[in-house]
Amino acid sequence: MKRLLLLLVLSFPVLAAPIQSPSDFLGIKIGADRTLADYKQIVSYFRALDAASPRVEIESLGKTVLGEEMIMAVISSEENIRNKMRIRESARKLADPRGLAEAEVDALIRDSKTVVLVTCNIHSSEIASSQMAMEWAHALASATDAETRRRLDNVVLLLVPSLNPDGQKMIVDWYRKNVGTKYEGGQLPYLYHHYVGHDNNRDWYMLTQPETRALSRAVYHTWNPQIFVDEHQMGAMGPRMFIPPFADPVDPDVHPLIWREANMIGANMAHRLEQKEKSGLIYGYTFDAYWLGGTRNTGWWKNITGLLLEIASARIATPMYIEPTELRGGSKGLVEYKSTINHPNPWKGGWWRLRDIMDYGRIASDALHEIAADKRTDFLRNLVTRSRAAVAGAKPGEAYRIPKQQRDWPTAQHLAWLMLEHGVEVHQAANGDYWIPMSQPYRLFVTEMMEPQRYPEVRLQAGRDVLRPYDVATWTLPLQMGVTVEHTTLPEGTRRVTEINPETKEVIRRGATLTRKPRVATYKPWAASMDEGWTRWLLDTNGFAPKTLSPQQVRGTLPFDAIILPDVDKDIIELGRRKPGTEGASRYDDEMPEENRGGLGNEGRDALRKFVEDGGTLIAFAASTNWVIENFNIPVRNALSTVKSEDFSNPGSLLRVNIRPDHPVTIGMPAQSAIFADAPIAFETSSPSTDTQRWVLASYPEEEREILLSGWIQGAERLTRKAAAVAVTYGKGKIVLFGFRPQHRGQTHATFPLVFNSIYWSVQ
Ligand SMILES: [Zn+2]
Repeated sequence: MKRLLLLLVLSFPVLAAPIQSPSDFLGIKIGADRTLADYKQIVSYFRALDAASPRVEIESLGKTVLGEEMIMAVISSEENIRNKMRIRESARKLADPRGLAEAEVDALIRDSKTVVLVTCNIHSSEIASSQMAMEWAHALASATDAETRRRLDNVVLLLVPSLNPDGQKMIVDWYRKNVGTKYEGGQLPYLYHHYVGHDNNRDWYMLTQPETRALSRAVYHTWNPQIFVDEHQMGAMGPRMFIPPFADPVDPDVHPLIWREANMIGANMAHRLEQKEKSGLIYGYTFDAYWLGGTRNTGWWKNITGLLLEIASARIATPMYIEPTELRGGSKGLVEYKSTINHPNPWKGGWWRLRDIMDYGRIASDALHEIAADKRTDFLRNLVTRSRAAVAGAKPGEAYRIPKQQRDWPTAQHLAWLMLEHGVEVHQAANGDYWIPMSQPYRLFVTEMMEPQRYPEVRLQAGRDVLRPYDVATWTLPLQMGVTVEHTTLPEGTRRVTEINPETKEVIRRGATLTRKPRVATYKPWAASMDEGWTRWLLDTNGFAPKTLSPQQVRGTLPFDAIILPDVDKDIIELGRRKPGTEGASRYDDEMPEENRGGLGNEGRDALRKFVEDGGTLIAFAASTNWVIENFNIPVRNALSTVKSEDFSNPGSLLRVNIRPDHPVTIGMPAQSAIFADAPIAFETSSPSTDTQRWVLASYPEEEREILLSGWIQGAERLTRKAAAVAVTYGKGKIVLFGFRPQHRGQTHATFPLVFNSIYWSVQ
């Protein structure tokens, strides 16, 4: 009998041991309260699935900042996995159907598969999708039912269990360390990405981080999926799940089939969730169809249908009990927490746990898989339609030229490199100029990147206010980067390029000739600041090797030439948190262990004053200039410090300033520049005492209409004739105040030299 069984097993591999579930494999109960698999465990499980199942294959996307490997699981039928390379090639042709005969397109649509990308856990505290991904992959690898097989036959699923492995590990480590204490489920006192924290989902057009570049390559160079779904979590006290349709405003240039597909997929998800009695689903809420910077959003301009899912959070893996009276609206699309057509079945409160988040995410993910199979030929044909419309929309010979003869050629080369990295077709002429022909599938993306944004002013009721954008209102790269680009006609004889290696910038070369390398430090508050991370990134990548100072380290004598206060609220600088009772104050102070709390206080302030009096240079960005103005007796005030939001509002726009030519901080800058500003700050200086000098380094134009270059602003007249950047002497030292973010998210190459020059000034 035993021998017979063995024989059976050998001759019928289908009877081999069932594929282990993640809970069995890892020896923990996935999805249970206070239980999390960390990134290494997740990878080990996916590797085991790859070994055990012919339906799963792991691809490596690249390395994270901290050296972790990023993985993506390709999940499909056994046959599709065998034909992976052919399916990839078909997807590439469908994304760029130029030169294909109609019969070839028809054959591709008939024979190819829907390629669907699902990314999880880019925001590390939004942890549930990283756990759900293992269960979903296991179910797809082991299913024997006809319906799942049909879906696997029609769809190639690309599943990224975590888009931020470093942060996934940080969150799980911190959670495990604090479980069972009063800090269980509390916030991390540092960024969950080495440099950019939550802004890792604001990097999808600038591609500054290795994780962003790795996924971008997989999407726009290797796989060309038709559908891209990014799974997130949102606050705990509102609706349970946002599923597209998106909220207004919408970018009118995006092909309408993108929104029709997103709505159709979203409707299938909501329908399946409602069937399973999952309440609290909402659409048309908070998340708009205008902003370009998020993972899946960038794809809208590249003909890919991108969806965002947002599920209510728990306290990481700790369940929350929510009283019905605590549930809140208050956002775009749901002003009061009640039943509306976009939120017909409100959740009623009670316990909410990791398992709930995983269940909502899993049902939606299965509904995605289902409709991707059902509508396979529609999704493939619609992509061809969108791609062809993009190509056909170009005027004859229309192109952008990035001329070699310009003020800052290395940064212009960087722009050309960036377009290439995005999958855009880039050419070069014999004289070195780069050219971007517009009759290409990514035409809308190129236009969006090159031209100023005019924010669509949408009102949902007559006489009501304009809907505010979800994030910033602009991205125009030539303005942000200080690069000259011309919209013109493609000449004969340009060659398509496949590689661009930008030269080193002059401002960095000049720094290398200084007699002494400046010692620079950046201030890092415990309330993790993304602007601090971006500042550190900028200085690290340009060879400044900055030190990082916690609030407790700003004491006594500070052995530096320059100290930078990144864009941090003045209360957070002083106290380490917002003042109790103010907006955003929450229970923050209770959530951090003692050693991870506190601000500069009086001691830190006195140390910084002494640092400057003794000859140091203090450099402050945006909000932190308010703290400097209040704590240093300098002849500068912020004319907008008490302005009301209805009188002045700037969600993040590019503004024009005039630059003073003859100052060490402005060396190499043009007479006018674009700056990225997103806060009510406009300096007024006054005549100082004889032992103090002050300089207006950058000022807004006198005419209101000249101020806005790209984006949206309300109350621009309040900026006229005000200063955007100033410098003053203070004792033996200097203070430089930027009322904007000169290094905003690593994008504003135009104003990076102001930061570098300020640091160099500290040793001049
Ligand atoms: Zn998120």
